[in-house]
Amino acid sequence: MKNLHVQIDAHSGFCFGVVYAIEMAEDILDESGHLYCLGDIVHNDEEVNRLKRKGLKIIDHEVLKDLRDENVLIRAHGEPPATYELAIQNNLTLIDASCPVVLKLQHRIKNSFDKGDSIYIYGKHAHAEVIGLLGQTNNEAVVFQDISELDLETLPKNITLYSQTTKSTDKFYEINNVLKNNGISVNTNDTICRQVSNRDKELRDFATKFDKIVFVSGTKSSNGKVLFNVCKDTNPNTYFVSNSDQIESDWFTENDQVGICGATSTPMWLMEQVKERILTF
Ligand code: SF4
Repeated sequence: MKNLHVQIDAHSGFCFGVVYAIEMAEDILDESGHLYCLGDIVHNDEEVNRLKRKGLKIIDHEVLKDLRDENVLIRAHGEPPATYELAIQNNLTLIDASCPVVLKLQHRIKNSFDKGDSIYIYGKHAHAEVIGLLGQTNNEAVVFQDISELDLETLPKNITLYSQTTKSTDKFYEINNVLKNNGISVNTNDTICRQVSNRDKELRDFATKFDKIVFVSGTKSSNGKVLFNVCKDTNPNTYFVSNSDQIESDWFTENDQVGICGATSTPMWLMEQVKERILTF
């Protein structure tokens, strides 16, 4: 045995938006035993599989088109207006677990669009939240995930800049500065969720205190990628895993202090499993 000392980060685990969506789903599953959910309820396969075993059925927009007279959960990422219109046509009851932070951002973008602003959204192409945001602008806003995608010469002289809620704060402000340094007047809206950006600093503090860090997240989680890089920057001995089977004993040396942390979509029970596994080495 390597006599490892293992601690889970108290600030890691689901954000309130994900807690809200999962509680809503579980209440309905406990009552009726089945519920449709449009897209993965959370970007974590382990948690999705747990809920599937309770009767959750994950569907995509193609399946939704043919569904009638059912209850369908909208997850924390939110949806564009077209989904709500389709629900009315198909007599679907939407159980709306869109995160309040995302809903507020959707409203802000809609207001900007109605005023005629040139809207630019820093976000991941085709990400569910971004599709919902774009929908507020009749799909007319420009989405970019890297500044190199924009032609600074031909950009309008005045733009309104938003961010997907889970992007990196540092990158957002870097982009903002590049735009301003190129003579573009930017109405900057830092719409990064504080549940993500505050974790940035908390994680840096956490990652410095340990010899090794095990970061637990699904591979599809945007904020998982951002927060893993925050840990890795601070502590190069950081390892990414999606479940406890992926942990390797070779990563640890005798008497190591090991910290476990995760994304806003990582369930606490999964980090507990990871801890149990590490303690067997
Ligand atoms: S990260 Fe923030 S915006 Fe996204 S679901 Fe969680 S609380 Fe809501």
